[in-house]
Amino acid sequence: QEDIFKKLVAHCKEYGYVFQSSEIYDGLAAVYDYGQYGVELKNNIKKYWWDSMVLLHENVVGLDSAIFMHPTIWKASGHVDAFNDPLIDNKDSKKRYRADVLIEDHIAKYDDKIEKDVAKAKKRFGEKFDETLYRQTNPQVLENIRKKEELTARMAKALNDNDLVELRQIIVDNKIVCPISGTSNWTEVRQFNLMFSTEMGSTAEGASKIYLRPETAQGIFVNFLNVQKSGRMKVPFGIAQIGKAFRNEIVARQFIFRMREFEQMEMQFFVRPGSELDWFKKWKETRMSWHQALGFGPEKYRFHDHEKLAHYANAATDIEFRFPFGFKEVEGIHSRTDFDLKRHQEFSGKKIQYFDPELNESYVPYVIETSIGVDRMFLQILSAAYTEEEIEKEDGSKDSRVVLKLPPALAPIKLAVMPLVKKDGLPEKAEEIMKLLRLDFRCQYDEKDSIGKRYRRQDAIGTPFCITIDHQTLEDNAVTIRYRDTMEQERVAIDQLHDILRKKTDL
Ligand code: ATP
Repeated sequence: QEDIFKKLVAHCKEYGYVFQSSEIYDGLAAVYDYGQYGVELKNNIKKYWWDSMVLLHENVVGLDSAIFMHPTIWKASGHVDAFNDPLIDNKDSKKRYRADVLIEDHIAKYDDKIEKDVAKAKKRFGEKFDETLYRQTNPQVLENIRKKEELTARMAKALNDNDLVELRQIIVDNKIVCPISGTSNWTEVRQFNLMFSTEMGSTAEGASKIYLRPETAQGIFVNFLNVQKSGRMKVPFGIAQIGKAFRNEIVARQFIFRMREFEQMEMQFFVRPGSELDWFKKWKETRMSWHQALGFGPEKYRFHDHEKLAHYANAATDIEFRFPFGFKEVEGIHSRTDFDLKRHQEFSGKKIQYFDPELNESYVPYVIETSIGVDRMFLQILSAAYTEEEIEKEDGSKDSRVVLKLPPALAPIKLAVMPLVKKDGLPEKAEEIMKLLRLDFRCQYDEKDSIGKRYRRQDAIGTPFCITIDHQTLEDNAVTIRYRDTMEQERVAIDQLHDILRKKTDL
């Protein structure tokens, strides 16, 4: 699986999906650029989210708030004081680590040990091996499970209590060493704030420190009254926003899973106090259906309900997706109570209340938040779509192909238009077809190399349909449509193409 992930990263570069930022200068860590196909896929993901949130819900409206905001907003939200990661430095290698991630990596070693034990036993006992029974009874496996659970609980408690001394003690007790120097010569653990800051205005004017937003949500909270009043919105209603967010992540790993500059799609849904848990449940289901509608299979998703809640939340869950490196969060759904609006009321000194005409009373609404990263969604889709296949050629010999089985609605290029040969009027006919379709479907004209090679190239890009124009086309006005996933081919009339494509690219 890790191997597949490496291949996927290489594929993203080779086929113009994702490039390392500033690559010719040796790159900038955890920052990425999207190439010609990546940007199309990203735009399609954003449209899929926006349409399902804003177009399909009459009571959800959009917003595009600025990245820069008044610095006091981040005091009110708690980010200045509490948006921290616990860091530790190795004095020999001078490398900096997140203490919790070092411990997590150590915990993962228990899983490795367990899997190795199981694999060994499987080899030894062959056919007769009962894996479930072995996992439930083998003393060595049970001991590793116990150690893993004990350490996980100890770390969770230390993080929850914000106990930095204990975090360091866990590292010492478990003899965790620096992966670079191999020594355990550590500093203390200290808190490190994840927000990037810069200065606004010239020094002469009295420059002030401002932050690049670490989430888009606060732009929604501080505009609550603007939108509610100008849009005459009635609770319950939501405000949706897509935009960049920035976090100075120390452990930047796993490609675009954890970036320093990334994009979020967030929706804050304002409800009557007391009704929030019903809405939480509803949004949990709605958001899970949204993910599953892509058709990658329900077994790839699960909820991870939070047992330990942030002080402002009264319910929280993550939607996790099975990436090649395991189940990980792609989206958070949080019941944030009235914490944020109340804090902004307190820090701004402005009343932030809603008059409910049905109840004939004013209150500070409660909030359900759905928050998903565009880039993590992008990685989810590519992880699910990337497929290596053995195929049989027409002459019966074996071949292989790499194909991105992207949902057609999200594919960067919907359709490749290919004249069989570069002469006899076929390219002109192909141009005609491009003109017919290009305003409604992203098309690509491709006349270079053999038809087989062209199909492979389009498979690797994830193009769901290829249209071939041959000599017959000039007589019967029909073309061959070739389907990416099944590789089946079908002869269809040119004037039916539009309808066929429309039906097959709808979600
Ligand atoms: P994690 O625990 O993985 O750091 P988080 O719980 O801090 O994530 P939230 O603050 O809930 O994440 O952010 C909401 C969503 O934004 C996440 O589910 C994820 O999809 C996305 N996200 C957060 N941080 C990053 C990042 N550094 N790079 C890419 N996407 C991110």
